[in-house]
Amino acid sequence: LFLGSRYESTAAASDSGNPPPPPAEKYEYQAEVSRLMDLIVNSLYSNKEVFLRELISNASDALDKLRYLSVTDPQLSKDAVDLDIRIQTDKDNGIITITDSGIGMTRQELVDCLGTIAQSGTAKFLKAVKESKDAGTDNNLIGQFGVGFYSAFLVSDKVVVSTKSPKSDKQYVWEGEANASSYTIREETNPENLIPRGTRLTLYLKRDDKGFAHPERIQKLVKNYSQFVSFPIYTWQEKG
Ligand code: ADP
Ligand code: MG
Repeated sequence: LFLGSRYESTAAASDSGNPPPPPAEKYEYQAEVSRLMDLIVNSLYSNKEVFLRELISNASDALDKLRYLSVTDPQLSKDAVDLDIRIQTDKDNGIITITDSGIGMTRQELVDCLGTIAQSGTAKFLKAVKESKDAGTDNNLIGQFGVGFYSAFLVSDKVVVSTKSPKSDKQYVWEGEANASSYTIREETNPENLIPRGTRLTLYLKRDDKGFAHPERIQKLVKNYSQFVSFPIYTWQEKG
């Protein structure tokens, strides 16, 4: 059995010779997104745990999309990775990561999906907010319509999305903070963060919401939501 050489020379060359990666680029949110982020970040909405339902449902959609599109384009699943969702909690640092091996996003898709509002539920939400004169109703509306990806900011100061589409040979990192009018996108260069395909969200929880990073809490919530998800969801805890 010939195992081949281990390409040490390539690794050495990349350590010394490669140009530095392009710097992060800054993008302004579409006005509607800024408005939505404002409402979410400043809301007194108490049912914050819905963020997990929204993010699991996005992970599940991404896996569905991969499976569906692979039927006509088998190249999309050329990386033979199990279709699943992994949720890791780090309670000491108040961090949750949610990783799926779904369709991922190209750089352009990151801009289109996580900087503008495409989804109809969110658009309806904003319309309903506009029409309601009473600011207090915003809180009920969040629960009623669901605010998708941006619900991560119900509990997070910072959200990092590292994503690899099978259509792109590069992995990109979207980074957004609560109370900011812009986000950044850069290439993923940390080898430890590279994934073969899909999306990893890292939530840096707000001081008062760090309790969500307790494994028992996440497991309980996952149990509630997973019954609607047709992919396995694994949870585990960061070792201290
Ligand atoms: P919706 O799920 O209703 O479309 P969201 O705000 O939840 O709205 O998500 C916006 C878009 O961002 C999704 O439609 C999808 O294109 C993209 N997206 C979000 N999460 C993921 C993910 N885990 N993998 C791939 N794409 C995602
Ligand atoms: Mg969604």
